[in-house]
Amino acid sequence: MPRMPSDPLRLQREQLATACRDAAAAGLAPLASGNASLRLPEGILITVSGARFATMEPDQLILVDQTGRPLEPGPAASSETPLHLAVYARRPDVGAVMHTHGARAVALSAMRTQVPALHYYCADLGGPPSMAPYRPYGTEELAQVTVAALEERHAVVMTHHGSLTVASGLAKALDRAELLEWLCEVSLLALAAGTPAELDDAQVAASVQRAARPAGGTR
Ligand SMILES: [Zn+2]
Repeated sequence: MPRMPSDPLRLQREQLATACRDAAAAGLAPLASGNASLRLPEGILITVSGARFATMEPDQLILVDQTGRPLEPGPAASSETPLHLAVYARRPDVGAVMHTHGARAVALSAMRTQVPALHYYCADLGGPPSMAPYRPYGTEELAQVTVAALEERHAVVMTHHGSLTVASGLAKALDRAELLEWLCEVSLLALAAGTPAELDDAQVAASVQRAARPAGGTR
């Protein structure tokens, strides 16, 4: 779907395609798994169905409205478009959504255990990510249970499926996807070694407060 060089969304398309390739390089999206989107004044820019993160190009993104209706010609939007739309509808603070299939998140999800609070970096996700129950991919049901589990946090693990991270901007949503995968790896290592101790609720809350400060972020 070649577009004219004067495409007003050219920069956003390039940024979203680059973020997808970066996610693939980080091992978060094998084969044609994963989808990502950006909320823009013109609509929701989202990856198209069947596109591979590793080779994502700007012309593999399509603009849809808040009901998923395409606003430009081109291939069909991602099968998980309802998931992205549900997040944007529920969370006015969210400007970018990354959905990936990182192996460590999937492995941890299969144990049906919450991501334990083993490192204060979980503060950048709003606390230890919750876990959404399994539902068939691409369904409105999956979108609803995932958004319900997300609540006001910035990440959720989807049972037998993958994960979803959100942020006001694209770079942060990608950072959080990588952070979540790292936290899942730490959890798997610790769970394989024994029964890890967890940060308590007060310690997590204090870290979340620090991370939320204007000059905050986890260090
Ligand atoms: Zn998926």
